[in-house]
Amino acid sequence: MSSQTLKKAGLKVTLPRLKVLEVMESLVGNHVSAEDVYKLLLETKTDIGLATIYRILNQFEEVGLLTRHHFDGAVARFELKSSSHHDHMICTDSGDIIEFNDPVIEARQQEIAREKGYELLGHSLILRVKPTERIA
Ligand SMILES: [Zn+2]
Repeated sequence: MSSQTLKKAGLKVTLPRLKVLEVMESLVGNHVSAEDVYKLLLETKTDIGLATIYRILNQFEEVGLLTRHHFDGAVARFELKSSSHHDHMICTDSGDIIEFNDPVIEARQQEIAREKGYELLGHSLILRVKPTERIA
């Protein structure tokens, strides 16, 4: 199945690409860095160099298999591209990343672009949040 995905994306099937794709497919809904992928592969005794993993993740992004995010500055995080669009909020306390989709926000962005005479091609929306205070 993974090899089919690579072929369909126009990439030659190689073992490192297969392994990285397998990890990403096992992590649907997660947002992982290249180092995360590196460590997860090491746990399964697969030693692929970090530079190779970076290169593969970049290739996967170029062919549209992955989405790249910069939630917290320098570290790029990747997730498997899903068919349904979602936005993210990031908790400044725990670093948790929470996905959400709001049809009103989506529609409003279209309208705002249109009102200014533009066609909306895409957007990135990241909310920075912290847990609400709980009063005992
Ligand atoms: Zn996401």
